[in-house]
Formats: sequence, structure tokens, C-alpha cells
Amino acid sequence: MNEDGKNRNGEAVTDGGSGSEPETALATARRQLERAASHADVDDGVVARLKHPTRVQQVSVPLRRDDGSLDVFTGFRAQHDDVRGPYKGGLRYHPEVTADECIGLSMWMTWKCAVMDLPFGGGKGGVAVDPKTLSDEERERLTRRFAEEIRNVVGPKKDVPAPDMGTGPQEMAWFMDAYSMQQGETTPGVVTGKPPVIGGSYGREEAPGRSVAIVTREAVDFYDWNIEDTTVAVQGFGSVGANAARLLDEWGAKVVAVSDVDGAIYDPDGLDTQDVEGHDERPGMVSGYDAPESLSNEELLELDVDVLIPAAIGNVITTENVDAISAEMVVEGANGPTTFAADAVLEERGIPVVPDILANAGGVTVSYFEWLQDINRRQWSLERVHEELEAEMLKAWNAVREHVEERDLTWRDAAYVVALSRIGGAKETRGLWP
Ligand code: GLU
Repeated sequence: MNEDGKNRNGEAVTDGGSGSEPETALATARRQLERAASHADVDDGVVARLKHPTRVQQVSVPLRRDDGSLDVFTGFRAQHDDVRGPYKGGLRYHPEVTADECIGLSMWMTWKCAVMDLPFGGGKGGVAVDPKTLSDEERERLTRRFAEEIRNVVGPKKDVPAPDMGTGPQEMAWFMDAYSMQQGETTPGVVTGKPPVIGGSYGREEAPGRSVAIVTREAVDFYDWNIEDTTVAVQGFGSVGANAARLLDEWGAKVVAVSDVDGAIYDPDGLDTQDVEGHDERPGMVSGYDAPESLSNEELLELDVDVLIPAAIGNVITTENVDAISAEMVVEGANGPTTFAADAVLEERGIPVVPDILANAGGVTVSYFEWLQDINRRQWSLERVHEELEAEMLKAWNAVREHVEERDLTWRDAAYVVALSRIGGAKETRGLWP
């Protein structure tokens, strides 16, 4: 963004701050790509191609409710790019899921897989539904019917979904079962994030939080801080936030604040994160925990801490609150928590932001391990998953760090440069077929 609030194309950059329309994931993803392309040695045609998904499948998903009535929901599967391998990315159940959101999120998956050097491209999908309004039986019927509706575009060699917001191992189990029954053969590799008893990987659920913790630890070391003196605030105490907070706590950091949708708890001396039950484990227990102080989610974001980890939803750091952010560093646990305009302000203020496509990439990395285990029909131990995840995260961290050090890029730009050069290299070598 330049000073008059316009991007390089002269479009006004707004992001939901000051009452404007919220920035969509697609708008953020396109602006980030455009900016990153100026730092990377990638053909303009390749960049133009990458602004568009290969395809977006939109489907209607009828659901028989428990009371016998019928509702129809809309589902999507956006497939952004598969030059490096099958499309890969989650399925979310959230009332605000749209085609554009899925496209933006699928673009981030393409970069995420490339930063990690996984042989996958990017996909994302979901159903526009509030999963809290569904019974378990309704969730199962919805998932099976959605699986059937997108069956022709997914598959272990085509597109491999995984959990995302509002979905988890059980939804993946139903999806895999529905797909397998229709295909006439058990096909565990069609989705990842399954329970281990049906071909899921040990350590998959904790993996995004684990990678957030690993990357935070490396960043703390990079800036010559001491982990024991590092204070951390984590927004969101679900699978990503709780696992990141607990590991950092275990490694000596002082986690002073955590939150769920209902609010945050704060203890300047550090919370006992093992004692706070996660939002997924028992909803309401975070904000209900007996802590010295309670705060709002907004107040948590503005705490004067060393590391702020937004690990709940997208678009939480916007032009509205970015000036009040007091953390020394932001590590993105959620996908897209910082808008494009807010990111520029953080850069100006000298606050490093370790981007989502690197920080939470442990999820898709262990998904890759799971896919390998499914294809080879051989399960890995949890120790092996932890060891290999650590090694992959360090490899990606070091590739990105080199660009930060050598070219003085932001962490996001450096991660994009690593991703784009791998994708661009693959596209140029295979050749576009226009
Ligand atoms: N939904 C997760 C993400 O945003 C995981 C995707 C996957 O494992 O395929 O990274």
C-alpha cells in the first residue's frame, strides 16, 4: 500500500477498519501475491495465472433435519493450483463460507504447501452452515451428502481435503467412508486428519499448534530473545491456540493470556495452560477459568506482550486496531488474521509478522505424512511424526530466514518468495498450455 491508501494498481485499500466492508480472504490473497511477485523472479504470465483458481465447484447440499423437515445448504470446493501435486486443503463449516473465501484460502494453501516443499497444490472448501446448529446425526448426513456432491473432483491423486474451522477427525471419517463406499474400495488417502484407527496420523490434530510453537521458538532465537523471558498472548484456545500455548509454556515461555469466543483470561505471572481446558475440550471453560483478570478478545490483541498469536479467525488485526497492537512480534496461528492494510502498518512500525503460510503449516505437513502412511499402508509412531515435523519446519524456516537476512524482506514476503520461486519454477519447466 502507498501513502494515499491505494495499492500498486491504484485500488483503494480498505479492510473492514473504520466501518468499511471487511476485506475478503480473496482480496487479501491477491494483494499479497501482487506485492510478493515484485520481489520474486517469476514470469508475469505465471503470476497472472496464479491470481485465478483452476476451478471452483459449487454444490447444493440437501439435509433432512431430525424433525423431518428439509434444508438446503451451499457447499464449495475451490481448487487453486496443482502444478506441484494434488490440491490440498481443508473443508470448513461456517455460516460465512463463500466461493471467494474458499478461493482466497485455497491460494494460501498453494503457497503453504510450496513453502513446506510438499508435493501438493492448494484447495479449500466448505459448507455455509453453522455447525453448532446441527445435531451429530445431521452433521453426519450433511458430511456424507457433501462428500457425494464433490466426489468427482476429489481423490488421493486429485484433491485431498482435511479438517478446517468447524470440522475435525469425525467429519473426515464420514467423508472417507462415504467416498470409499461409492468407489467400492476403502480409500483412506482421500482425506487427511482422520482418526488414527482408520488411517489417520498420530500427531495430526496437534500439528498446526505445534508448528506455531516451533516457529515462535525459532523467531525468539532469531531476535536474540530468551524464551524464558518471553511473554505470549494467544487469541483462540481451540486446536491451534491451545497446542501452541501449551508447548510454549512447556518450553519456558510465559503465556499470560488466552481466549475463546466468549472472552480472554489474563495472568501477568503466566497461566497454567495445562489446567485451562481447550474450547474444543469443553466450550466456555476458557472464559470461565478462575484467572486474576478477564479481558475482552479485543483487549487481548492489544496487550503489551512479546509475542501475539492470533489463532482464532481471519481479519482480526485491521486498520481499526493496528495502531493499538503493542506486541513486539506477531505469529499468525489462524489463516489470514492480518489484513493487507494492517500488515503494511505493522511493517512500518517495525513489528515482525511471521505469516500463517509458514507458522501453521505443521497441519498440512502432518497431513502429507498421513497421506504417505495411507498410500504405504504403514502407520508411523508419534515420535517419528514429531521428529519429521521438527525437521521439515526447520528446513522451511531456514529457507525463509535466508531471504529475510540476505534481502531484508518481511517474513511474509520472504515466505512468498520461497513459495513462488518453487511454483514458478515448476510452471515454467512444465510450460503453460494457453
Ligand atoms: N486446514 C488446514 C490448513 O489451513 C490443513 C490443511 C490440510 O491439512 O490439508 O492448513
